[in-house]
Amino acid sequence: MVPASSPLQNESLIASAFDLALRRGSVHPVLQPIVHLNGGAVSSFEVLARWTDETLGIIPPAVFIPIVEKRGLIAPLTSHLIREACSAAREWPGLFRLAFNISPLHFQDGEMPSLLEDAVRDARFPLARTQIEITETAVIGDLAAARATIDILRAKGVRILLDDFGTGYSSLSRLQALPFDKIKIDASFVGSMERSRDSRKIVSAVIGLGQNLGVPVVAEGVETVAQAAILIRLGCSFGQGWLFGRPVSMKEIPAILHERGTAPYDPPPRGLSISQRLAQLDAVYAAPLGLCFVSHDLRILSANPYFAAMMGQDAGTIVGLTIPEIDADVASHLRANLEHARRGEIILPRVWTLRPSKRRGLLIVTPACDEIGELLGLSLMVTDLSG
Ligand code: C2E
Ligand code: CA
Ligand code: CA
Repeated sequence: MVPASSPLQNESLIASAFDLALRRGSVHPVLQPIVHLNGGAVSSFEVLARWTDETLGIIPPAVFIPIVEKRGLIAPLTSHLIREACSAAREWPGLFRLAFNISPLHFQDGEMPSLLEDAVRDARFPLARTQIEITETAVIGDLAAARATIDILRAKGVRILLDDFGTGYSSLSRLQALPFDKIKIDASFVGSMERSRDSRKIVSAVIGLGQNLGVPVVAEGVETVAQAAILIRLGCSFGQGWLFGRPVSMKEIPAILHERGTAPYDPPPRGLSISQRLAQLDAVYAAPLGLCFVSHDLRILSANPYFAAMMGQDAGTIVGLTIPEIDADVASHLRANLEHARRGEIILPRVWTLRPSKRRGLLIVTPACDEIGELLGLSLMVTDLSG
């Protein structure tokens, strides 16, 4: 490891050792599979830099990449990794992509697209089977320049992935303004999903955002079967992490391809957000049907206009009200339903005369649980039986 001394000394030491290491070939790529969560086939491989120095030992990328970037040595590193990975990958079967990390400063360098193109072409690998991973820092500032670079690359078939989403700036306007092909949720949220409800909410929101924008989402840092199950349930398309395979040297890749196979085509994002589901149900049911979702304190989180009418409320103002404010009988019925749901008992449909509108309605209540089975609230469906 790097000897303990002042950070600045370490930095100079690393920078000069790196220059030599690159020329001697002691920096090399390792590849980690990114798989379809549905079925497990390989979609792409992320290329990650590894450096074992003759004198300094193993230096992790989190240590040397920022220094290399700062000292202006990132272009030769990226070019070297692209050439090595592409030369090996052209012999492998299947239509996977190769994904290269492009650091923020390098992304802003006008020469970067031609560096990528030259290195890929020299290695005789199809440019249209490559992808770059950039973080939001790369596109902060000059949005027009970022858009121009992305357009140049996409026109040549290179796909653009937004890395580490959820950390840093995570601006929705940038997400909308730039045509990303995939969004990667940062490993920190995925890793804490099982124990932290807030992390689950963030992961769920990012997946929902991807679904609404039509951009598939990759979850990184997937280490357990339970995490994969949550992600599948949330409708996430792709996974990456130790569960599916650690970053490995290139000689190990053919065996991975043999075992998993490849599925290159990006699937349309699966699943719909709550509002989309409501709109879809609304459209599917020919019969007038009131639809509503209430939280466990019986607050209305979403409702269609027909539900509002059945409850004698205005469609524009019903969201945010609580059921007890509208109809005390229905409220006590729903409280009993919540208890049934908590005990795992079946909730039977029931006919009501809804007090505010005086209509007779058939009320069907379904408990809504989150990804690990915790009760979030109730879905209500009401059909008008008055006629
Ligand atoms: P990143 O782009 O977010 O890469 C993902 C990191 O998570 C990698 O760390 C990978 O080895 C690690 N990882 C993958 N699956 C798991 C998992 O299931 N659990 C855990 N705990 N970790 C997992 P690595 O290889 O140490 O790279 C760290 C960072 O260094 C990368 O983060 C990236 O920002 C940078 N980096 C690595 N290689 C390159 C490169 O060639 N160019 C540039 N510009 N940056 C690179
Ligand atoms: Ca990455
Ligand atoms: Ca990350």
